[in-house]
Parts: sequence; structure tokens; C-alpha cells
Amino acid sequence: MDPKKREKAHHKMMREIEDDARDTGTWTGRSRFSDSTMAAMAAVQRHLFVDDDIQIAAYVNRPQRIGHGQTISQPYIVALMTDFLDLTGSEKVLEIGTGSGYQAAVLAEVLKQGRVFTIEIVEPLAKMAAKRLRELDYDNVTVRHGDGYKGWPEEAPFDAVIVTAAPETIPEALVEQLKPGGRMIVPIGRAHDRQTLTLVRKDAAGQVTVDKVLPVAFVPMVKDRN
Ligand code: SAH
Repeated sequence: MDPKKREKAHHKMMREIEDDARDTGTWTGRSRFSDSTMAAMAAVQRHLFVDDDIQIAAYVNRPQRIGHGQTISQPYIVALMTDFLDLTGSEKVLEIGTGSGYQAAVLAEVLKQGRVFTIEIVEPLAKMAAKRLRELDYDNVTVRHGDGYKGWPEEAPFDAVIVTAAPETIPEALVEQLKPGGRMIVPIGRAHDRQTLTLVRKDAAGQVTVDKVLPVAFVPMVKDRN
């Protein structure tokens, strides 16, 4: 794909994220995203994370296929979820649902002094994402093949957790692995239905509060068959 065309499409994507943020501001309470979120969205080259045949479409503000029946979220949703973590750059973040590795790369851009730990249940996707992130020199991301419902106890606690597949209820282990003062963004709801993007906060005393952010549509967070 022509780099000029691609840059133009990326610029357009950035403007559409700003427009969507403004349009959904009354729902989400955030009509614009932080400079660090927007800088990360501008830095990561989304076409490197999708199949070769849809490079041109990569920057369209829509979800895209990444193989194995999975999708990479719409750019606006990636930006929104990243922004809701309120990261300052040195945190330790857990992602469930590595998929293509795109969201992990966006987090890695924000976390210049921090780390991303990301879990993917489909082994070939985990392998592909790990390879891609390594080749792009994201050495602050660690990918693991496994079941996200269990979290990553060896690396817990986390400052923030981001879940990019939809469980029906808030996974307990992930709340447990959140630091006091930490936050988790997760789409909650039944498969093949609309879900509700949900913000879970744990205060300094360990008290948990849950707030609804926005109706969304995610692929289901599957239960491990083993
Ligand atoms: N964040 C990804 C897109 C995620 S799509 C990106 O930026 O590309 C959701 C992903 O969650 C899929 O790859 C799916 O295989 C994975 N997934 C579903 N259930 C899971 C589970 N229980 N544990 C870990 N990953 C899971």
C-alpha cells in the first residue's frame, strides 16, 4: 500500500476518533481523550496488525478480521478503553485477549516506563502477536498463551486490567489481581448480544465500585475447554 495513502487514512482515523469521542461524551463522560492516548493511536501502524488483503481498510474506524474468527476492535474503542485506564506511563498493565497485538502495542506506547502483560487463549494468535510485537521492538510487552479468566498470578498485582473479549460477569480473579487504587475496563454481557463497557475501580481500602460506560459489541471471552 502506498505510504502516502496510508498516512492520509491514518490522519482520517485520528479525526474520526476525536469526532466519536465528542459524540459519545455525554455517555462516557469523556468528550476528548488524553494527549498520551492520542499520541499512541497516532504512533501505532494499524495496517501491520491485520491480514495482508485488508491493509487499505486497516485505518477505517471499524473492527477488522484477524483470523481464527477473531476481530481487532474499532480504533475509537481501542482509544476509549486505553484512555479509561488513566495511565501515567510507568504502570504494570494486564490485557486479556491479545488477538493481533494491536491494543497491546497502543498500551506499550503509553507505557514508556511501564509493562504490558497480555494473555491470548488461541495459541496461533498468541504466537503471531508475540512475533509481531518482538519484530516491532515492543520489548515492554510479554505475551502468554493461556486462559484469561485465571489472570496472571505470578505478575499480579496490576495497576490496570483491560479485557478485550466479553465475559458474562466480571471475572473474580482479575478483580483480585488489581492493586488497591487500580482500575479495570471490561465489556460485560452475553455472547452475540450487545455488552456494556464497564469500569471497575478498586479504592485504596480495597472497596470495589462498578460503573457502566457505553454499549459495545465484542467477541465472547471463552471458557477454557481443558
Ligand atoms: N485486543 C485484540 C483484539 C481482541 S479480540 C487486538 O488488539 O487485536 C478478542 C481476543 O480475545 C481474541 O483473540 C480471543 O481469542 C481472545 N480470548 C477469548 N477468550 C479468551 C480467554 N478466556 N482468555 C484469553 N483470551 C481470550
